[in-house]
Amino acid sequence: MKQDKKQNYPKKPKKNSKKGLQIFLGKSLPQNIFVTLLIFFIITAVYSLISENISKSDKIALSQLVIEINEGDVSEIVVKGEGLEILYSDGQKKKSKKETATALTDTLVNYGVSLEKLKDVKIEINNPSGFLFWLGNLAPFLIPLLFIIFFIWFLSRQMKGAGMQAFSFGQSKARMIDPKDSSQRVTFNDVAGAKEAKEELIEIVDFLKNPKKFLEIGARIPKGVILMGASGTGKTLLARAVAGEAGVPFFSISGSEFVEMFVGVGASRVRDLFKIAKHTAPAIIFIDEIDAVGRVRGTGVGGGNDEREQTLNQILVEMDGFEPNEKVIIMAATNRPDVLDPALLRPGRFDRRVVIDLPDRNDREQILKIHARAKPFSEDVNLATIAERTPGFSGADLYSLMNEGAILAARENRKKISQFDLIRSIEKVMLGPERKSHILSKREKKITAYHEAGHALIASVLPYADPVHKISIISRGRVAGYTLKLPFEDRKMQSKKEFLDDIAVSLGGYLAEKMVFDDLTTGASNDIQVLTALARNMVTKYGMSEQVGPIALEGDNDRTMFGEGIISKKYSEKVSSEIDTEVAHIIDKAYKNTEHILKTHKQALDAIAEKLVEVETIERNEFEKLLLVNGITPKKKEDIEHS
Ligand code: ADP
Ligand code: ZN
Ligand code: MG
Repeated sequence: MKQDKKQNYPKKPKKNSKKGLQIFLGKSLPQNIFVTLLIFFIITAVYSLISENISKSDKIALSQLVIEINEGDVSEIVVKGEGLEILYSDGQKKKSKKETATALTDTLVNYGVSLEKLKDVKIEINNPSGFLFWLGNLAPFLIPLLFIIFFIWFLSRQMKGAGMQAFSFGQSKARMIDPKDSSQRVTFNDVAGAKEAKEELIEIVDFLKNPKKFLEIGARIPKGVILMGASGTGKTLLARAVAGEAGVPFFSISGSEFVEMFVGVGASRVRDLFKIAKHTAPAIIFIDEIDAVGRVRGTGVGGGNDEREQTLNQILVEMDGFEPNEKVIIMAATNRPDVLDPALLRPGRFDRRVVIDLPDRNDREQILKIHARAKPFSEDVNLATIAERTPGFSGADLYSLMNEGAILAARENRKKISQFDLIRSIEKVMLGPERKSHILSKREKKITAYHEAGHALIASVLPYADPVHKISIISRGRVAGYTLKLPFEDRKMQSKKEFLDDIAVSLGGYLAEKMVFDDLTTGASNDIQVLTALARNMVTKYGMSEQVGPIALEGDNDRTMFGEGIISKKYSEKVSSEIDTEVAHIIDKAYKNTEHILKTHKQALDAIAEKLVEVETIERNEFEKLLLVNGITPKKKEDIEHS
């Protein structure tokens, strides 16, 4: 039962980029061999069966032939080379073979044929024409032989394919985007917001377009630019835009593609990639998700992967080996700058750092406009409102919001996208699709209603909590119900008072369940995790505890940006227990506060929960009416600003 905007939002699955080879080696080759062998065996079996049958049915020995001649059954013998075709007086036909190099009659005489009878037999010598004769004779050997040759050829072709693959392992797998290909061209016009990043990158574009101007004046051009920002903020997009603006080839490869199967491949791939790029200079090499190879070396984290270290070393070597006038710029992107090896960030390497933040309200509107370009909208659409309602959304989220809106409209057979489509898409992108089929039992429905009502009530009463926009007990994704709160404005900072109120709001669901049903459900587990983490961060990161004071005991992700790997706990057991006490203290205070509010406003809680059971979703207006009826004044924007 999530009650906040965006928490553990699933990451998009990575595209599988190394399919070609694996499919080939993993499955197809052995299968091919197997199939070929099978066909081969079947054909040889059938062939030998047929040829045996033919020869068995009507082949007779010479001695038998002599007996039959003596009995006067044979009327004619046709000699074809060594083969004998015997025609009987009763019309039968049989075959035999004579000895090589002796005449037929001699042979027959040797076998004791009666000369009398032999005279009655018509003997015809019919030496067959060369080609057919040879073919007929050779076919039994030739056909299997041909099969074997074909088979070997087929196999060797396969092997060659595999071999080529194996040899080309080292070759870079980079995809190149040609500047002349206008269908793939991305420019800065396709990227909204990210102003600082763009300004920084315009310089790079300028250099790539006009390297002479810079080199003549002796300016040192940055070799490496690293884009840092949360996933979906448009890092990849920006890198492509730089290439598009500059009109130079753009080689893009993902960090994870460097590392593959055989040791040493990553490093040789780097070498190839740089070689190719230097050939086509000016050019951009873009290493996406560089943290996959660029992690701090020698920590043993991630399996102490030698391959990765070699790849990283090779990148460093290549970057150092660059002449300043090489006109190749290396861009990289990461959403984990904290784990990067400090060697990468040293001057002369990725020394330009461009941070891309999540878009603010205005940027969000601009991004929405970009993705609205080719879509038909009805008149009621107001992108500013959508931007207002989507704090914390990344560019990628906004893109999929627009797309979901279009899908919704299309599904309902409308020609234009309406505002309502977009609003529904916000929640879909945030929480996953509605699961109408997931029907709660009556009791579950009531518990969920009280849980969400608890969150919503606390959020409405406490002064520093964000106001409620919507409450719903229709399950979505993995949550049974949700309370949507939206800040009046985008925030860059959060205060201690806000944190404390947020903790209380998180407890609202849990305590409402406990108070009303005298029981607890697993539905509150996510809330508890969130509030515990919040309280802990207050103590260990933000210095917001009276007892512990302004000491940062934990960095981001337990590592420093330029640090030397994992930093183990830097504090003593005593401090550790002090932290625990403080966390417990903060939560306890919020607990009492929440309990008190729920008790004083029990009437409002009941009203909200009942309404929820009835209508399942309450929007902001309706919710505020409910509050007013029960003696709570809804928050207004002005209250916050003046407090
Ligand atoms: P990242 O590489 O930072 O994870 P991407 O560059 O892959 O993010 O962005 C994914 C998609 O989101 C882009 O293709 C684009 O459609 C959209 N997007 C992200 N940021 C922006 C932006 N600032 N302006 C316009 N579209 C954006
Ligand atoms: Zn909850
Ligand atoms: Mg990316």
